[in-house]
Amino acid sequence: MCRHLAYLGPPLPLSALLFDPPHALAKQAWAPQDMRGGGTINADGFGVAWYPPSATVPIRYRGAMPIWTDPALPALAAATTSRAVLAAVRSATVGMPVTDTAAAPFTEGRWLFSHNGVVRGWPGSVAKLASRLPTEDLLTLDAPTDSALLWALLRDRLRAGTPPAEAVAETTADVSLAAPGSRLNLLLTDGTTIISTTVGHALSVRAGADAVLVSSEPVESGREWQAVPDGHLLVATPMHLHLSPLGRP
Ligand code: GLN
Repeated sequence: MCRHLAYLGPPLPLSALLFDPPHALAKQAWAPQDMRGGGTINADGFGVAWYPPSATVPIRYRGAMPIWTDPALPALAAATTSRAVLAAVRSATVGMPVTDTAAAPFTEGRWLFSHNGVVRGWPGSVAKLASRLPTEDLLTLDAPTDSALLWALLRDRLRAGTPPAEAVAETTADVSLAAPGSRLNLLLTDGTTIISTTVGHALSVRAGADAVLVSSEPVESGREWQAVPDGHLLVATPMHLHLSPLGRP
């Protein structure tokens, strides 16, 4: 299943997350160490998005190829510096298309979103939930995948003004209820706060004095990494980590 990460802190080159550390995201793509529930390699696409200096709307670069085969990315990542980054590599769930637009991050305005996992019984199990969305949202899903629908469900709450941590927890609860056994590691940022869940997959966090990195797997070894227990909601800023159990199963 996919791997994802989000960083907030002093500006750093994207390569410091994607390529440079011993277990950087590109390494997690072809040699992940903690893939729970199936999948061995994340070769079905990648995406990275970052906030340019003093901008609130991120720039996204994504594609349907393995992250290690994109010829432009290493130089782009070395030359691009940002204070807030979200990136993901994808292992497509069986039956779901491999297209550029199925790769996270999904985005609208200042928001970036990624999902690591699977919605069980897709699409029937969540058809009723989906039917509550405006038809136009369903007609313009990024891709016909579980992750794109999760983004549409979450985005609907964000548009309605629901506070982001609540919106993430409610979306997770709704989908867990409709599709029991789903794996729902969600990751959301607006460039100032990271909100993530652990439902069925690995997640770790490294918080320093002025930076925070949330990642499916630690990008390097070190005691400053904390594993996030399953069934939790993590709200993280460079100054503060807040971990709470997810309410409903
Ligand atoms: N089910 C999602 C997809 O196919 C996410 C897959 C994953 O976590 N590997 O895009």
